[in-house]
Amino acid sequence: MGAEIKAELRNDVKRYIQVCGEPPSLVIVRVGGDAASGVYTKAILRIADEIGMNARLEHLPTHTSPDELRSLLLQLNNDRTVQGILVQMPLPAHLSQRMVADTVISSKDIDGISPRSAGDLFLGLPSFLPSTAAAVMEILERIQAPLEGKRAVIVGRSNVVGKPLAMMLLQKNATVTICHSRTTNLPDFTRQADVLVVAVGRANMITADMVRPGAIVIDVGINALPDGTLVGDVDFASVQQVAAALTPTPGGVGPLTNIVLLKQCIQAAWQELGNNQQIPGEVLQS
Ligand code: NAP
Repeated sequence: MGAEIKAELRNDVKRYIQVCGEPPSLVIVRVGGDAASGVYTKAILRIADEIGMNARLEHLPTHTSPDELRSLLLQLNNDRTVQGILVQMPLPAHLSQRMVADTVISSKDIDGISPRSAGDLFLGLPSFLPSTAAAVMEILERIQAPLEGKRAVIVGRSNVVGKPLAMMLLQKNATVTICHSRTTNLPDFTRQADVLVVAVGRANMITADMVRPGAIVIDVGINALPDGTLVGDVDFASVQQVAAALTPTPGGVGPLTNIVLLKQCIQAAWQELGNNQQIPGEVLQS
């Protein structure tokens, strides 16, 4: 699926270059040395290169002050050669995620972190979407999962996955339930799901007895076992016996998240041109 979407994006970038003379351009801002964010950054830069986009890294030292970070973001907001801004999380403790979300201009907020983007999504207005949640929708749409009138159960209510995904599934006319750490009798809910999405961060917590036979199961979780093996929140071996479809970990939602992020950057570039007819796909909500 990733290869298919990348091929589409490569074509779209070519079309954009024919119109503008330059490829769409992304700046990734990373502060400090968080290892995981370094891995994600490298992956995004590599995919951007593969599809012909411009992407560069602004890597700031851990001791960067709030004013310095804010002033870089304001400068990128005003830079006409930049169409998308991604600030890698987590930030060092003295820097506020809220400040970043309030500063990045919504037209370049390609990971949908700003209150404006979240509010637009809630209201069903066009917006950039948190890319992990958008990647889940991309998978469901590409496998043509029936959503209208279906029961969708999301385990996890974070601002980057569970909550925005609930809005997206609602917009597709699914009947949505969100479960979380205080949900009692979790299996009673998961067993009702036609579509089950799990985004918790607990290795193998969803077992076959918690899944309705024939359900579509999307595993967002990424967990490192003591021996270093990466596994999802879904016990793959047992759940694949009952599910109609199941995403693997690693190699499932994770890689698609980066691709969807770049897709939204290309959309931001087309939008900047004011040529909405050229916007491909359906990631932007209508
Ligand atoms: P998060 O902010 O820690 O949220 C976890 C959610 O799981 C919370 O809503 C929490 O409930 C809920 N939860 C915790 N224990 C539970 C339990 N026993 N039963 C039911 N719900 C429970 O995590 P996140 O950022 O959404 O990430 C979730 C997982 O997805 C992690 O493994 C992360 O690595 C992975 N992830 C993957 C990608 C990707 O593939 N690109 C991107 C982001 C995250 P409360 O709200 O009640 O605390």
